[in-house]
Amino acid sequence: MEEIRTPIFEQTELFVRSVGEESDIVQKEMYTFEDKGGRSITLRPEGTAPIVRAFLENSFVNRGFQQRYYYIGPMFRYEKPQSGRLRQFHQVGFEIFGSESPGADLETILAVDNFLKRLGLTKYTIHLNSIGCPECRKNYREALREYYGKHLNDLCDDCKRRYETNILRLLDCKIDHELALNAPKSTDYLCEPCREHYEKLKDYLNEFEIKYVEDHTLVRGLDYYTRTVFEVRHEGLGAQNAIAGGGRYDGLFSDLGGGTVPALGFAGGIERIVLALKAEGIEVPRKNVHYIYVATIGEDAFKEGMKLAMELRKKGLNVDVDIMNRNLSGQLKHADRLGAKYVVIVGDEELEKGVVVLRNLETGDQVEIDKEFAIEYIFEKASKE
Ligand SMILES: [Zn+2]
Ligand SMILES: [Zn+2]
Repeated sequence: MEEIRTPIFEQTELFVRSVGEESDIVQKEMYTFEDKGGRSITLRPEGTAPIVRAFLENSFVNRGFQQRYYYIGPMFRYEKPQSGRLRQFHQVGFEIFGSESPGADLETILAVDNFLKRLGLTKYTIHLNSIGCPECRKNYREALREYYGKHLNDLCDDCKRRYETNILRLLDCKIDHELALNAPKSTDYLCEPCREHYEKLKDYLNEFEIKYVEDHTLVRGLDYYTRTVFEVRHEGLGAQNAIAGGGRYDGLFSDLGGGTVPALGFAGGIERIVLALKAEGIEVPRKNVHYIYVATIGEDAFKEGMKLAMELRKKGLNVDVDIMNRNLSGQLKHADRLGAKYVVIVGDEELEKGVVVLRNLETGDQVEIDKEFAIEYIFEKASKE
């Protein structure tokens, strides 16, 4: 799997064509403006369409299939800020290109589940649905039209419009949720290949003991989804309780002018995942596992400490040296605040003896190490953490 980084902004047209004219994102939530050349530009509201655009532009198709990419970065949506909803937020996502197999759907859901489990989260539920392909969706749309046609006057204004333009979206309206609960289910209208795909995925999930609930009101807000859609909801969050979501988008490549490339992926909202961690009382993990602070006392010691730090950095460790001229206890306090597990202490006395001191901040244990072996010794200790 490779990381992919796409620009923060794209031509507006990309999102209109992929996410969909009628989606909330395009209708209400995009930061769209004109650049000096009069082109319409949009700050990316999601990560998938830019990746597909980059794929097509750079002929990644020549790399052969299957392909897997991940991304982490800021996304932008103009919404009323509230808990778990920021105008600049961050997503971590994963995409698989080239496979039509339910095995790819399994892998995507396993990836989300594994990711959340490794963070220590438990109080979440995976909602699952299949919204079929353009073929079977024709019949399903008809069924929805008939059902909602009887309730037209009860619908909210947005849904009255969506009834004409994008009837699937009525199912995930928060205001008209009651009606959605009794609406026809997409899974009852799947064509044979779509039904087999969905059944196979559920078999896999059961076999891998991944708990999920089938939720026929789940359609996800983006037009490009086909067949599998899923959303992970956390019980510790308020109204904005989806911490990750995704699905299959077999038609997106051809919508954007590419050939037929079956594809799917997920995105997780980092700020919401952090809220979920807090709700479960899990300490947000720090990245400073190999973090070492070099405390020095005096000018000679500073130079010696800096040399030591440079050697340790060459070995790939994350090392900080005091450049604030604090006294030793000030430096130790600061190292603790930064989350360093080890502090290397270099003072005049130690220099004279030809040693440095390595202190474990968690246990308070410390050892004197001969300067000659210090680099190897510290590296051995720290990289094992
Ligand atoms: Zn179908
Ligand atoms: Zn509505």
